[in-house]
Amino acid sequence: MSEVSQIYYDSLRGMLSRFDERARRDRFRLSGLSDFKSWQERERKVLTGLIGLDRLQEDSGEERYPAGRLEIVGEGCSAEAPRPGSNPVIRYKCLFRVDGYTVMPMYILVPGVEQEDRKKGIWIALAGHQGAGKESVAGVRDIPAISERIDFFNYDYGLQLAERGYTVICPDPRGFGERRDAAVQGDEPERLLACSCRNVSNMAIPLGFSVIGLCTFDICRLMDHLKRASGGDRDILNSFGADPGDISVIGFSGGGMQALYLSAVRRDISRTVISGYMYGFRDSLLILNNNCSCNYVPGLWEHLDMGDIASLIAPGPLVIQSCGDDRLNGPRGLENVYEQTEIIRRAYGLYGAEERFRHDIRPGGHHFHSECLDMIDDVTL
Ligand SMILES: [Zn+2]
Repeated sequence: MSEVSQIYYDSLRGMLSRFDERARRDRFRLSGLSDFKSWQERERKVLTGLIGLDRLQEDSGEERYPAGRLEIVGEGCSAEAPRPGSNPVIRYKCLFRVDGYTVMPMYILVPGVEQEDRKKGIWIALAGHQGAGKESVAGVRDIPAISERIDFFNYDYGLQLAERGYTVICPDPRGFGERRDAAVQGDEPERLLACSCRNVSNMAIPLGFSVIGLCTFDICRLMDHLKRASGGDRDILNSFGADPGDISVIGFSGGGMQALYLSAVRRDISRTVISGYMYGFRDSLLILNNNCSCNYVPGLWEHLDMGDIASLIAPGPLVIQSCGDDRLNGPRGLENVYEQTEIIRRAYGLYGAEERFRHDIRPGGHHFHSECLDMIDDVTL
């Protein structure tokens, strides 16, 4: 064999050229609000199909979808010592049966104050990578490797919301925490913090699904159940003082990805906070093609860019947070973010609801900043 070549004939240039030819064909091109509303309705259906959510929801038979159930496991315990000036928090472990084959473990964080002092509504706090799923978001610091990740990313936004008086649900996403597939199961720190997104994606895509679709499906099932809950499950919600008619979502990084798609396809989310997940696909997922498999949906880029997807949330209250030096913004940095937030701003402008969208920009790398929690009430006004 001849010596190893130093010249590589790789795929990126050709892919970029294809992207430039084909991307974003469905972008909104007209001008009026009524046209925009029709566009939103149409593109929600397109997105639901692309991520495979429609196929996941197709068969609603009792065998596949027995009535959901919240199962509280054990007693509630005190969550981590709250920050100065914040409320104490009780943490419950709970199992939710998504369908006949799928269980989603989660924590429910309940402010340890009198019911009348609790805030109305429920937050679903979605986890991203490298934090052992719900553990970091709920601020469970028993294991040093997880505690280190909480400090590194300021990852415990679920606990922070509970300390502010909200009832917060922190689920394990597909492939994370207790939902890891065989490839990364185990208690060693590097396995605890790992995820099996790639394995889930490899199983899902040939079946016409996607990780994004599966994650969206899980939370849709949970939300539908909370809204319809009766009997014992209604008693559980009542005992927490939680109002299932008012559900908001928050997520950082991969959790932001889940919050984005969930809020784009549903119209009953009270407020959405997305941190560290808003940028153009070309720079951030095509050029940065070593990103996790969970980000990739077959055929999606041909239709919409990320700002178009977030435009489907309008006029719902939306806070997006970006960090100036987040490498996931891609090689052009914040320019690749602003192009997308401009698309979103135009969408809110069509509704005359500019004040319901905030873009919070912070310095430094990929990190959750608690300031976006202070903006929740601003966008809700
Ligand atoms: Zn992933």
